[in-house]
Amino acid sequence: MSIPHTWKTPAEAALQSSAAGASEGVSAGVSAGVSAGAGGSDELRARIWALLEQVSDPEIPVISLLDLGVVRELRWSGAAWQVVITPTYSGCPAMTQMADDIVAVLAGAHLPVEVLTQLAPAWSTDWISPQGRQKLHEYGIAPPAALPAQPAGARVLRFMPRQEAAPAVACPRCGSQETVETSHFGSTACKALYRCLSCREPFDYFKPY
Ligand SMILES: [Zn+2]
Repeated sequence: MSIPHTWKTPAEAALQSSAAGASEGVSAGVSAGVSAGAGGSDELRARIWALLEQVSDPEIPVISLLDLGVVRELRWSGAAWQVVITPTYSGCPAMTQMADDIVAVLAGAHLPVEVLTQLAPAWSTDWISPQGRQKLHEYGIAPPAALPAQPAGARVLRFMPRQEAAPAVACPRCGSQETVETSHFGSTACKALYRCLSCREPFDYFKPY
């Protein structure tokens, strides 16, 4: 079974919803017997957040999209629940899967849903929650180091500085700081492969971005 979803920027969504009577391509996903007043209920909103908590990162299943900081906003449009997400990386192959999973979970609870993307402000590994960092660590992935503080609004467009040396990354298994980067790209583009010189185990490092 495939569940349709639309993949729209908020601007596109606004354009479409302002097109009066548009009947094609506007409604995303699935309508299933939710009253129009559903948007006002705090209880329902809390239930939806709980459902979203169940949606995990397709590449790192131990952390949810909420822990990852990808879900920015939940709002009721009058016709559907709009889940606003910010992509982790442009071109990240997991983003389509994330949107599909969000639609599947909410549609499974008979809630009409559409997933919208918001590109600015750009996602950063700093948005990963403390709980998400802990889960990464327990899973054997070294969580990303915090980015250097920058003035508010200064991160519209970021270029990665050339690094003189790889940052010191603690081994998630034994805690040793004696680690070396063996490959800047690990099992996915967002991770680097490290090796611990103390316990000699390889591990992934979620690169700060
Ligand atoms: Zn180690």
